[in-house]
Amino acid sequence: MRALCWTAGGELTVCQVPDPELRNDHDVIVRVRRSATCGADLPLLTGQVPGLAPGDVLGHEFLGDVVEVGAGVRRHRVGDRVVVCASVACGACWYCRRGLPSCCDNGSTDPVGNEAQWGHPVAGCFGQPRAAGGFAGSHAEYVRVPYADVGAFPVPESVGDDRAVFASDAAPAGWLGAEAGEVRPGDVVAVWGAGAVGQLAARAAWLLGAERVVVVDRHPARLLMARQHVGVETIDRRDTDVTAQLREFSGGRGPDVCVEAVGGPAGEHLSLADRFTGRARLPEAVREAVYACRKGGTVFVLNNGARHVDAFPAGTVVHKGLTVRGGRQHGQRHIPMLLDRMARDELRTEHLATHHFPLDRAAEGYALFRDRPDECLRAVFTPP
Ligand SMILES: [Zn+2]
Ligand SMILES: [Zn+2]
Repeated sequence: MRALCWTAGGELTVCQVPDPELRNDHDVIVRVRRSATCGADLPLLTGQVPGLAPGDVLGHEFLGDVVEVGAGVRRHRVGDRVVVCASVACGACWYCRRGLPSCCDNGSTDPVGNEAQWGHPVAGCFGQPRAAGGFAGSHAEYVRVPYADVGAFPVPESVGDDRAVFASDAAPAGWLGAEAGEVRPGDVVAVWGAGAVGQLAARAAWLLGAERVVVVDRHPARLLMARQHVGVETIDRRDTDVTAQLREFSGGRGPDVCVEAVGGPAGEHLSLADRFTGRARLPEAVREAVYACRKGGTVFVLNNGARHVDAFPAGTVVHKGLTVRGGRQHGQRHIPMLLDRMARDELRTEHLATHHFPLDRAAEGYALFRDRPDECLRAVFTPP
C-alpha cells in the first residue's frame, strides 16, 4: 500500500510499504477515508523526537471503513464507517477501568522506554516512533487498529467525513481541556492557541456553560475562524497586553479557567544539548496562563511537545492557590458523546480541514501545515 513515511535522510515521502495484517483477535483493519495533520507531528519533522525509523508511517487522526475483523472483535463488522481514537488503550487495565485511557498500562509498544521517559508507561499512539510507544500511522491506505472494540466508534450517518475525522483527536483533546479544567456555568475561560484543539477547547467551554470564552493567538486568520465558527471573543497577542486584557474580560479578577492549547514547540530551534536531554523552553503560554489565571483558578496544559521545562513559576501557583493540570485526550471515553454532539450540530469541525490533498501529495500538505500556520489549520489527506 501507499503511505507517508519517514526516510533515513529525515525527509517525508510517500512510498510503498507492506499492507498491515491482523496480528491479534482484537484487531481490525481500516481502509482510511480521511487522515489529518496534527501539531503533535511537528516535532517529528524537526527531529526533536528520537527513535523514528526509516519506513515509519506518520499520522494519528483518522477515520475509515472496516475491511477486516479479528475473531475476538464484538462491536465492528466489515463495512462499518468508524472513527478511531488517536491514542491506543487496552480498555481493561486499572487506569482504563477508572476512565483514564490515556494513562493505559498496556497501550504502548515500548512501556519500558515510556517508563524511563515519564516515570510510568502511558497509552500508545498511532503514527509515533515505536520507541515512543507508537503504532504504524494513518497517513496510509490501511491501518491496523489494536483493541478495536475499545478505540474505534461507528460514525452516525448524518456526520460527514470532514467533521467526524476530528473526533479522533482534536475534539477529545479540546473537550478534556474544558472538562478536566473544571469549567462551570458562568465561568470566564481563556484558551491559548486558536488551532484546531484550541478552537474545540473553546467550543467545549461554551457547551459546558461558560459565560465568556476568549481565545488568544498571534495568527489573525485563526482568530477570525474562532470568532466566525466558534463564536468566541479573541485577543491578538501581537498588539496587546494579554494579561491586562484578560483581566478586563473577567471583571478584574482573571479567567476562572485557563487552557493552554498552543501545540508542539514547532520551529523552536533547540541546542544539541537541549535536544539530547529533551529540555525545552517553557511555552510562553503556560507561564502567561499561570500569571493571568484568577486566584484559586485552574490552568490546564494540553501541550505535550515539551518534556522538561525550566523557569516554571511554582511560587505563583502556591501564592495564588492554583490548580495546574495536564493530560492527553481520553477519546475512548469521550468520542461517542462528541459524535452525538456532531450529529446534533452542536459541534461543527469541518472548517478545521482548511486544505485537502490526495495521499500521494501528503509531504506537500505537511510543508504547508508547518510553514504557513496562518493559512493552513489542518491538512487532510485522502488515500486513492
Ligand atoms: Zn494529534
Ligand atoms: Zn488500559
